[in-house]
This record gives sequence, structure tokens and C-alpha cells, in this order.
Amino acid sequence: EIPVLTIDGPSGSGKGTISRAVAARLGWHYLDSGALYRAIGVAAGWADLDLADPAALVRCAFDTDIGFRPDAAGEPRVVVNGVDATDELRTETAGAAASAIAAIPEVRAALRDRQRAFRRPPGLVADGRDMGTVIFPDARRKVFLTASAEERAERRYKQLKDKGVSVTLDGLLREILARDARDASRAVAPLRPADDAVRIDTTGLGIDTVVERVLALMHP
Ligand code: C5P
Repeated sequence: EIPVLTIDGPSGSGKGTISRAVAARLGWHYLDSGALYRAIGVAAGWADLDLADPAALVRCAFDTDIGFRPDAAGEPRVVVNGVDATDELRTETAGAAASAIAAIPEVRAALRDRQRAFRRPPGLVADGRDMGTVIFPDARRKVFLTASAEERAERRYKQLKDKGVSVTLDGLLREILARDARDASRAVAPLRPADDAVRIDTTGLGIDTVVERVLALMHP
């Protein structure tokens, strides 16, 4: 069995940063499942699809080509239908579109096998909302990251500001809370920790501390 480490949690909990760092340390592959939902959301926007038309969105989920390739500096870029959409994918508009389409059960089903295909030797770190509960229930280790809403908004604020995106902290906090509420209340694969997940509250913790704690779970 190819080992999997799942890292789930709400937006801004540090999943992406921690998962990438842990994958690099283990020499394992990395799945950013949120990027798949974001890519479908962005592709739906490009095609001018109605977010209230599930059938069209499900077709879009099957038809959208999504590739992950590192740029010259080794930073991951996400290519959607042949177009580098990395920067567009990071916006809160893309996050909100992702959250809306992610509530459609058939869209989630359309992405299931694509996500499982990332499980390749020597191992996979999978980052998302339902990695431990739905996609990789047999994972070797499951982590659920949390942090206070204020700190999560602040982290996203810094990330976006560094990218030159203009946002307000208050607006971000509101958007994040709205997205969490939708993700936690949807009927299919709601955001929640797997029964066998280890919970880590990252409020006030630095990246290195959290990375070491997660790695310690892999070598008990
Ligand atoms: O993690 P990220 O913020 O990129 O995810 C964007 C949105 O995609 C989430 O708010 C959630 O609605 C959806 N998502 C999901 N299941 C996943 C990953 C993301 O429903 N495994």
C-alpha cells in the first residue's frame, strides 16, 4: 500500500504551507485538492456557466484539464485548459466559486478518481477538506488543522498582500467565515475531522513548529 498523510482543515488553517513543507521533507507527492475545485470554479467562470446550473458544472468538472507543473524556480503553477491560472486561483473570488461548486455531489464524485490518482510511490500528502473522511479513508495518518478565525484571516491577508492583491482584513474575515459555514453545512463531505484524525490548533504557532509536530506523527 502506498502511504498517504491527509491534512484537512478550514481555509487559512495553514494546510497548504504545512502540507507542501511536509511533502518536501518526506520526499512524497503533494495533492492540493482545493486547487482542483478552484480550477473548476475558474473554468466555469471563463465559460460563463451559471453557478446555479449543476448539470453544466458537472460537465465542466469532467471536461476541465488541470495540470500542476513547477516553474523555473520550482514553485508550483496550475494550468487550467492550457492557461496558467495560478494567480487567479488564489483569489477569494475563486475560493467562493470553488466552495459553491464543491457543494454539488456530482462535482465531488467527478473529482474523486482524479484525486486518488495522485497516490503514487513513495507516498502522498493530501491537503483539503475531505481527504481523511472521503478520498483517502485508509490513510496512514490524518491531521486536522485549525486556528482562530482572526488568525486565519490575517494569514490570508498577508499572503494576498504579498501577491499585490488589494483586500481588507475585515472583508477577508467575513468571506472566510461565510466559506467555512458553507463548507461545514453542506450535505455531502462537510468539513469535519475524521474520527481518527489528530487535531492541531496552529493559533500562535510558527510554520516550523507545526511541520515538526506533523513529521513526529509519521515517525512515532
Ligand atoms: O483549500 P482551498 O481554500 O483552496 O479550497 C477552496 C474550496 O474548495 C473550499 O472552500 C471548499 O469548498 C472546496 N474544497 C472541498 N474539498 C476539498 C478541497 C476544497 O470541498 N477537498
